Amino acid sequence: MAGKTRSERPVTGKGSGRLWRRFLPYGLVSNVDAQRLDVVVVGAGFAGLYALHKLRTQGLSVRVVEAASALGGTWYYNRYPGARCDVESVDYCYSFSDELQQEWTWTEKYATQSEILAYLNWVADKLDLRRDIALSTRVVSAVLDETTLRWTVTTDGGVTLSARFCVMATGPLSAALTPDFNGLDSFAGEVYHTAEWPHEPVDFAGKRVAVIGTGSSGIQSIPIIAEQARHLYVFQRTPNYSVPAGNEPLSTAQLDGIKARYRERRRLSWRSGGGSPHITAPKPTMECTPEERRAAFEKRWQLGGVLFSKTFPDQLTDQTANDEARRFYEAKVRAVIDDPAVADLLIPTDHPIGTKRICTDSNYFQTFNKPNVSLISVRATPIESVDTTGIKTTDAHYDLDMIVLATGFDAMTGALANIEILGRDGLRLRDEWAHGPRTYLGLGVDGFPNLFLISGPGAPAVLANMVLHAEAQVNWIAAAIAYLDGHGYAGIEATRDAADGWVAECARRADATLFTKADSWYMGANVPGKPRGFMLFVGGFATYNDICAEVAEAGYKGFDLVKLPR
Ligand code: FAD
Ligand code: NAP
Repeated sequence: MAGKTRSERPVTGKGSGRLWRRFLPYGLVSNVDAQRLDVVVVGAGFAGLYALHKLRTQGLSVRVVEAASALGGTWYYNRYPGARCDVESVDYCYSFSDELQQEWTWTEKYATQSEILAYLNWVADKLDLRRDIALSTRVVSAVLDETTLRWTVTTDGGVTLSARFCVMATGPLSAALTPDFNGLDSFAGEVYHTAEWPHEPVDFAGKRVAVIGTGSSGIQSIPIIAEQARHLYVFQRTPNYSVPAGNEPLSTAQLDGIKARYRERRRLSWRSGGGSPHITAPKPTMECTPEERRAAFEKRWQLGGVLFSKTFPDQLTDQTANDEARRFYEAKVRAVIDDPAVADLLIPTDHPIGTKRICTDSNYFQTFNKPNVSLISVRATPIESVDTTGIKTTDAHYDLDMIVLATGFDAMTGALANIEILGRDGLRLRDEWAHGPRTYLGLGVDGFPNLFLISGPGAPAVLANMVLHAEAQVNWIAAAIAYLDGHGYAGIEATRDAADGWVAECARRADATLFTKADSWYMGANVPGKPRGFMLFVGGFATYNDICAEVAEAGYKGFDLVKLPR
């Protein structure tokens, strides 16, 4: 590929031991004598950083191992033009410390990638996290020792760490997906993936640019690329629902008001279905008059973005209710697109609204009114190949200077599958999940004692504000470890029955919604050959937290607590 990809991709071979020493000032130098820790955390995004803080505060020895050369996870990698959060900035930040939330100043309703990254770096400094984070270090394997219940974690530099607990904060959206386009490597121009965006500015000026993919990443970047490129070709396979962000600067008065009422805002978020303080309309859709319905949809539309999927409580469970939301949506979108034929192509008809994450845009649909923007449906005319000069579809050849892949992720399981995780009897997690991921509460896996997952399959994860979600799971893990230590247990392991029950419960809840009707990445449908199944707990953030709390209060029901023989 001509475009740069993650320069921090696996550090292998000679010299990587030196990197480890450079980034681990606490003197880890031996590849033979594994450093003995309480907890190894893999990943330094929102989840891993909070895990380090929380577990360290609890008196545990903790190290974070991060593949990238800097912390931040999602917000380190996804630097494409227009990258922003789609949960309001004031909600998409840590809630565990009032000091942090009072001190930090968000400048916009939806923060840019660079502002979120700056926030995470600020938090790392405030909490003195860096000294326990090894950067540029990829975990290649995690192997259980059944006699001691310790995990041996090995890095690409061949360094080993031994820990009582292993926390996988590897991210649900961290394994970028590049489809196998025939001939892509032969393209002579620049190629970029939105999730592996270079650190240097990318110049679109005067260039013929293709964007492949119209998910959230494509939809955020397309309007900005269109402003600069000579010509932009958008290759769309499936149209997506997208609602304007209504982004705006946050005034001092607005921020002061929010900060004065942060406690209540957070209380509502923690008790909500999605981890933000907005509450759905009180009545089901069809119990409202047409005027009430319209007013409620309009209010949500003005709130912006992804929140539109939750105007009414039954919008994602009842097709008639969903159709009402869709009708409102379609009228709004058609009104801003000049060419009705282009509108036909841009408005989804294949899945109920909200069953894929609704994208949050700024002037996305208006972009297709520009003379320098073309929409190509690769459903109608599939991409056949890429050659040195551009993209060939079944009916045309597009001459290009640059290809932007906004093609998403091997979500939920991709980052975990890249690590050789071996549990009891040498069970390989990747093999155990060959027919679909199985967890208990999204936190534990039977056969893999003392291994915890954060924002993995079986949790609400991306259906909630992921920052609060990470806090919730880390808090649960920290309390579980404290319980084990307080009661003389060495291990905690989900039982097979509990995992089976949870998988069935997640499927039962998903089947009662419209989510399973979409070919979404929630279903694994975006990765060729991936087993199809809804991978998330759809019952809501607060409900999930209640279930996890009940399990803990009942002495970790569904988990075996294990003592080692003396
Ligand atoms: P990540 O931030 O993905 O961090 C995981 C880290 O683990 C990465 O740094 C990775 O390098 C590291 N890692 C993985 N494997 C290994 C390994 N083998 N060895 C060492 N390190 C490893 N969610 C929201 O709630 N609201 C939003 O507005 C929102 N916007 C998003 C925008 C984009 C562009 C994307 C891609 C996602 C967005 N998300 C959003 C989801 C987002 O992923 C989460 O909000 C959150 O940032 C995830 O944090 P995390 O720490 O769990 O994972
Ligand atoms: P995505 O939603 O999976 O979108 C990928 C796009 O690439 C889809 O349009 C897909 O088409 C297309 N594609 C994939 N393979 C293709 C192929 N072989 N040929 C043609 N097209 C192909 O990925 P994403 O946009 O990176 O977003 C992933 C998730 O990250 C989001 O759902 C969201 O949770 C998060 N995110 C959030 C924001 C935000 O607004 N804060 C921004 C970016 C990402 P199909 O639909 O046909 O598969």
